[in-house]
This record gives sequence, C-alpha cells and structure tokens, in this order.
Amino acid sequence: MGGTFDPIHHGHLLAASEAAYALGLDEVVFVPAGQPWQKDGRDIADAEDRYLMTVLATAAHPVFSVSRVDIDRAGATYTVDTLRDLRGVYGPEAELHFITGADALGGIHTWKGAEELLELARFVGVSRPGYDLGEIELPAGKVDLVEIPMMDISSTECRERAAEGRPLWYLVPDDVARYIALRGLYRG
Ligand code: ATP
Ligand code: MG
Repeated sequence: MGGTFDPIHHGHLLAASEAAYALGLDEVVFVPAGQPWQKDGRDIADAEDRYLMTVLATAAHPVFSVSRVDIDRAGATYTVDTLRDLRGVYGPEAELHFITGADALGGIHTWKGAEELLELARFVGVSRPGYDLGEIELPAGKVDLVEIPMMDISSTECRERAAEGRPLWYLVPDDVARYIALRGLYRG
C-alpha cells in the first residue's frame, strides 16, 4: 500500500486490514512515498518522520510491515518503480497487489508506466467516503474492489487539526498523535 502517509491515519490502517482479509494476503507492506509526484507545490513532512509514524502505526500488527524503497530512491516517487523494487525483494513468484483508495483509483491510467503497472501487480480498490467505487472506469480484470466501513478521515484534515491545535486522538493511532505533538509537526 503506497501513500504519502503525512500522517498515517486509521483510514489507511482499516483499508489495509480489510483488503488483506478480503483477498487473503500474507503481508501488507506500507510504502511511504519519497517525493510524491502528485503533491508538488505543498510542503510535506520529512520522509523520516513519515516513515517513523508509519512504523509506529503498524508495529503491533502481525502482518503489516513498512518498506523504505520509495524513501531511499532519489527523485520523484512513481508506483511503477515501487512495484519493480518490491518485485526484486519478493521475487518473481510473489503475487503483488497494490491497495489504493477510491479517490486515486480512477487515475491509474494516467500514472507513469500505466501498462507495466498493471503487469506488475493487481490493484485493489477500497471504498472511501465521497467516491463511488461503482462509477470508476477500470481496466478489465485487473482490479479487485473491496467495500470497507467508511471512515471519513484524511491526512489533510489531520494536518489542519494539528495546525489549529485541535485533537488528533482516535483519528490516528495514539503513538502517532504523541509523535506529532512531540516533534511539533504541522504546526505551520
Ligand atoms: P491527503 O489528504 O494528504 O491526500 P490521504 O488521507 O488521502 O492524504 P494518502 O497518503 O494520500 O492519504 O493516501 C494513501 C492511500 O490511502 C490512497 O490510496 C488513498 O486513497 C487511501 N486512503 C486514504 N484515506 C483513506 C480512507 N479514509 N479510506 C479509504 N482509503 C483511504
Ligand atoms: Mg490523498
């Protein structure tokens, strides 16, 4: 599951858990982006902070892990590179699934290396408040759709709350809320 995770929140974690259960996945690898190409123009938190928050959020789960491939690769992060690197780590026999929310799903055909992307992995589209999974045009036979409980949480809202001094409790894992406060992230 790729993302900026700026910060990671319970919507991400629920999506991963539900997708893993629905598809019987052995492992979910969270891959924080290095420099997300779609987020040019906005300040994003330091990659090491986003990585550490992702580790804090996932450490207690038996099959969640975090990969540094996108953080350690120089330049803009493209999912096609993520999947090539993960294919290298897990080998040719691994069945890779890329989990993505309904907001991002419809844009896959515009991502760099779209054709290769769909060869490297199957895609898993999870529902997200405000987006109708049923209305998205998708490449035939390449995407599994999973309806999950709707959690109306975004990293954008978490950052805004932190900037305004409003609480983050129960939107993000407790350790992530503490980390944000301790490091003074998103204070503006
Ligand atoms: P931002 O508001 O900064 O864009 P975000 O909450 O959308 O942050 P991302 O890091 O952009 O988080 O998302 C990573 C992945 O998680 C994307 O595929 C996104 O669609 C999915 N996702 C994020 N929040 C939810 C949610 N509440 N429910 C389902 N999927 C989600
Ligand atoms: Mg987003």
